[in-house]
Parts: sequence; structure tokens; C-alpha cells
Amino acid sequence: MVSPAPWPSAEAVWAALEGIPDPEIPVVNVVEMGIVREVQVHEGRATITMTPTFSGCPALHTIRESLEHAVRKLGLEAEVRTVLSPPWSTDWISPEAKQRLERYGIAPPKPVGDLIQLEPSPTRCPRCGSLDTTLKNSFGSTLCKSIYVCNTCHEPFEGFKAV
Ligand SMILES: [Zn+2]
Repeated sequence: MVSPAPWPSAEAVWAALEGIPDPEIPVVNVVEMGIVREVQVHEGRATITMTPTFSGCPALHTIRESLEHAVRKLGLEAEVRTVLSPPWSTDWISPEAKQRLERYGIAPPKPVGDLIQLEPSPTRCPRCGSLDTTLKNSFGSTLCKSIYVCNTCHEPFEGFKAV
């Protein structure tokens, strides 16, 4: 229990932040979502750089408060900086988190590079795995997601928009 540094390391801060679930998708945390870009610890103060996801998502304030709270629990002062450039990309979501999204019933976002194809690869139904799906509505329960209907199991499901 002897710590060489008088305050927790940046690694300890990262580990604490991994305990913060995404406010809208509780099966993934804010680090896996790629929201937390950088952590620096200096003189008992943690500076966290975050890039919000979709600008239409209302959870930004909640995430910011959760980050500050987690840092203070470690005994550090918290400073959260929001960086908008480069903009957040669904490519920043970790592969493990994408798998968990699918098990949760949300079709994970495709690589952004796919969007420039004339016929993008079909979105797979997270319930039955069918690729025979139809985009119903580009505005799902939040601006981040779209509603699809599976033509095989006839169930609607949410899909993450790639940005
Ligand atoms: Zn299906």
C-alpha cells in the first residue's frame, strides 16, 4: 500500500473513467466510446480532454459531471476540457464496445470509410444476424441512432449512425 507518487497516476484516472457508463448506452463506458481523448495528471490536478459524440446528444453535461466526479473521488482536482476538432468519429469506438452494442441489440456503426461507397454494406440485424434489413427512419430514439426493420425476424432495431 505504499504509493511512490503523492497523487494517483494518469493510469489510475483512466481506470476510474472506464467505470463511467455512457449515459445513453449503459453497456459501454465513456472511454470505450472514444469520448475521453487524453488524461494528464500534474501537481494533484487531472486535466481530461473529451470530445463529445454527436452534437445532438443531450448527454454531454452528464458525462462532464461524471468525469469530474470520478476524478475527485481519486483525490485529484478535475479540469475537463472539451475539444471539438477533430470531430468525434464512430471509428473511435473500441472493437469490444462495438460487439457489446450488438449484443445489447443496437447495430454497431460501420467503418466511416464504408459511407463513400455507392452501395454501402447492409446493416446486420442484431437479433437474428440477417442482412436483409430496411432503414425505416433516420431519426431513432436519439439523433445518434437510426431505426431499422429486419425483414427476416420482422423486429425493429436501432442502429448507430456512422459519423
Ligand atoms: Zn432479424
